[in-house]
Amino acid sequence: MNTVAVIGGGPAGAMAAERLARGGARVVVFEEKLGREKPCGGGLTAKALRRYPFLLEAAVGARRISQAEFIAATGESVRLHLRRPVAVCSRSVLNQRLLERAARSGAEVVVDRVVRLQRSAAGWELAGRQRNYRADFVVLAAGARSRLRPALVPDLAPKDFMLTFGYYVPGAEDLLRVQFLENIEGYAWAFPRPDHLSVGICAKVGEEKMAEVQARLHHFMEVFDYRRRGARMFAHLLPALTVSSWSDLRLAGDGWALAGDASGLVDPLTGEGIYFAMRSGELLGECLSAGEVAVYPQRVWEECGSQLAHGARLTGLYYRSNIFGKTLCTRMIQLCRRSDLVRDLLQDLVEGTQPYAGLLPRLYRGLGASLVEIGAQSLTGMFPRSDDGGGPGTGESRGPFGTLAPE
Ligand SMILES: Cc1cc2nc3c(=O)[nH]c(=O)nc-3n(C[C@H](O)[C@H](O)[C@H](O)COP(=O)(O)OP(=O)(O)OC[C@H]3O[C@@H](n4cnc5c(N)ncnc54)[C@H](O)[C@@H]3O)c2cc1C
Repeated sequence: MNTVAVIGGGPAGAMAAERLARGGARVVVFEEKLGREKPCGGGLTAKALRRYPFLLEAAVGARRISQAEFIAATGESVRLHLRRPVAVCSRSVLNQRLLERAARSGAEVVVDRVVRLQRSAAGWELAGRQRNYRADFVVLAAGARSRLRPALVPDLAPKDFMLTFGYYVPGAEDLLRVQFLENIEGYAWAFPRPDHLSVGICAKVGEEKMAEVQARLHHFMEVFDYRRRGARMFAHLLPALTVSSWSDLRLAGDGWALAGDASGLVDPLTGEGIYFAMRSGELLGECLSAGEVAVYPQRVWEECGSQLAHGARLTGLYYRSNIFGKTLCTRMIQLCRRSDLVRDLLQDLVEGTQPYAGLLPRLYRGLGASLVEIGAQSLTGMFPRSDDGGGPGTGESRGPFGTLAPE
């Protein structure tokens, strides 16, 4: 392999470039904006920190957070002391550090926006804003909104995205907060970063108009007293692939490969994407260095794709199911207050270590008794029935986890 062009210097591109350069390839990373504060929570799970301990080095400046509050759509809440803290970082600092690692390994970083990609007999022609380039292999790691994707694979559909909207709020806090909301597959969050908070909301595209999603976030900010004055606003798209899109996923072809958000590798249930961007970039670098790019899609699928596809199958159930009138995520928060097992399960979800394939069996095993108790209470009126707005399926006679059978 002569020259690999990596388009995008975010977590996916930087990791791919670093791994490729270490493997001896000539790598050029194209990044249109160095030090960009990418719209993001900046949350790094325990799973990410375990695989990439350098994320905790002082230079990344991530803030470790051990206190988290989860609030159901009903307003009921639970606070957890996280067994393994999450780390929250500024994306401009994280991206810079990752690119520096790539450069130290020998990758060249070029500040330019690639505006067009074209295949030629000699390889790839890349048209940049500053000048033109050529490469033998192209890695597209240009994020969720890349206009270059259709040069390689069909674009993702609107149903494969969440829209996000939020603010960088001045101030410092020690509590990470997540609020689930009625009738949307998403949540509002407040993640404390080193010197400000990322406060935002995500919802599946098409569920609500942007103005309605914004109004929900503003309400969340008023309730919890996050100041909007002086806060910088952001909006972005976040991949959240549907089940069918996971089965159609194409990650590599002749002379090209995709990594990170450009490929849709984001957890559709939680929105976690930094880990999957880094890991897919790294796997791609390993496979390309070994001259085995054809095995890259399989490795991604085995390590994370199948898990994320399973997450897509659970999304509707998690956010919209009807368990005695409330959604699964509301019930989880209620049950956290009485069940060690559910608290452990939530801890594992926050850490990113609970495989989705095992989520329902774990709940079924441990919650039988609690669900019977809740059912009894709902009949006696302690938990209002779903005619108070508990979501679709109201009043239907269904199993405790909707229509999805236990695995
Ligand atoms: C609001 C929001 C909150 C989120 N919160 C979290 C969170 O808390 N934790 C988490 O794990 N994930 C979170 N995510 C997801 C996470 O941000 C992404 O999954 C992750 O950034 C993907 O990394 P990437 O390298 O694939 O793409 P990106 O981070 O988007 O990087 C792509 C890079 O490519 C550059 N680029 C784009 N086009 C070109 C071009 N044509 N030429 C040159 N350069 C180009 C861009 O400038 C950018 O630097 C969040 C996402 C959003 C939108």
